[in-house]
Amino acid sequence: MGNYFRKILHVDLDAFFCSVEELLDPSLNGKAFSTGGTSDGRGVVTSCSYAARLVGVRSAMPMHKAQRLCPSLITVQGHYQDYSHYSNLVMGILENFTHLVEPISIDEAFLDVSDLPQDSKTIALEIQMKIMSETDLPCSIGAASNKLVAKMATNIGKSEHKKSTSPMAIKIIPPGQEKKFLASLPIGEMWGVGPKSEKILINNGLNFIGDIQSIQLEKLVNIVGNFASTLKDRSLGIDNRPVGIDERIKSISNERTFFGNLTSKPEVVSIIKNLSEKVGKRLRKRRMSGKTVRLKIRWLNFETITRQMTLDQPTNHDSVIFSSAAALLDSEWVDGKGMRLIGVGVSKLEPDIYQLSLFDRDFQKEKSLLEAIDGLQERFGSNVIYKGNKKR
Ligand SMILES: [Mg+2]
Repeated sequence: MGNYFRKILHVDLDAFFCSVEELLDPSLNGKAFSTGGTSDGRGVVTSCSYAARLVGVRSAMPMHKAQRLCPSLITVQGHYQDYSHYSNLVMGILENFTHLVEPISIDEAFLDVSDLPQDSKTIALEIQMKIMSETDLPCSIGAASNKLVAKMATNIGKSEHKKSTSPMAIKIIPPGQEKKFLASLPIGEMWGVGPKSEKILINNGLNFIGDIQSIQLEKLVNIVGNFASTLKDRSLGIDNRPVGIDERIKSISNERTFFGNLTSKPEVVSIIKNLSEKVGKRLRKRRMSGKTVRLKIRWLNFETITRQMTLDQPTNHDSVIFSSAAALLDSEWVDGKGMRLIGVGVSKLEPDIYQLSLFDRDFQKEKSLLEAIDGLQERFGSNVIYKGNKKR
């Protein structure tokens, strides 16, 4: 893959609810206050100003504890309609930078800005300025080659700011620095490690993300089970999840209609191969894999059948899609019975997460090759490169 890196930004509004409350009531500026909970100590803090954070108040903290830490804490009734209004404004601003925006909560989003010519720092500064000038809201931004590291960069950037003002942090982790950036962080900082997993890991002597980097995978499996290989990848800063996966997409398929009567099996097989490559390419472009391969046949008499098989592991490899579809064809093929349409599809889609599993290792080479080919075809047109024994 050479030196191609994605440029992913994670944008997170600073103390969002409280920042909106300050816009609604400027007398709150700079004061220790929180939303959520009641002044008589019930409920939990949903958001707290940086002046409150400075003395240890945190969101999700029980109100009575927050008041003990910060006796002067002002509690503000939340204005949820205003939050949603400002959230929409901000997401709209982000969508002017790229259509690859994935909101992950009311005040956070990922952006894939790989296609923009400017460097991440320049884009991050522009976004911060634009949001500030159009909404008066402060935000922090993390940038990295993937979502995981970008989000953790934002968190660390914010936590490095120890003042009563909004951090407006920008933290950039350059490609190649992911592992080093993560190594020294406490295990609880790991995205996806909740308090329960954190405790288990610490009890096993794994206090820092660097400890996960160096432990043998087999040992990690004994501690966290199925989560081990994902956790191992994440600790190394590996995360291939795409930005902006459209959850509505349930399957990807390509089909071809014939105007003649297709009766030659080798010809049908070569068409299936071609369709499989198209489907594989589309999956890889979306950074998705699927577990179910489907073959659709419309016979000459317009009878249409679909047959499918489910794989052990999700795939986006041309060769796996092709061999599955070809096997389905084998069981349906009738000599002399003509076809007028054939389709290949993959469903049960999920984000394509880099697997460290032993089974998948052989495929990593093919995958890198396919991605490189896809990239070249995109740049130079699809007729430049032919894979293997494809005949034209
Ligand atoms: Mg936030």
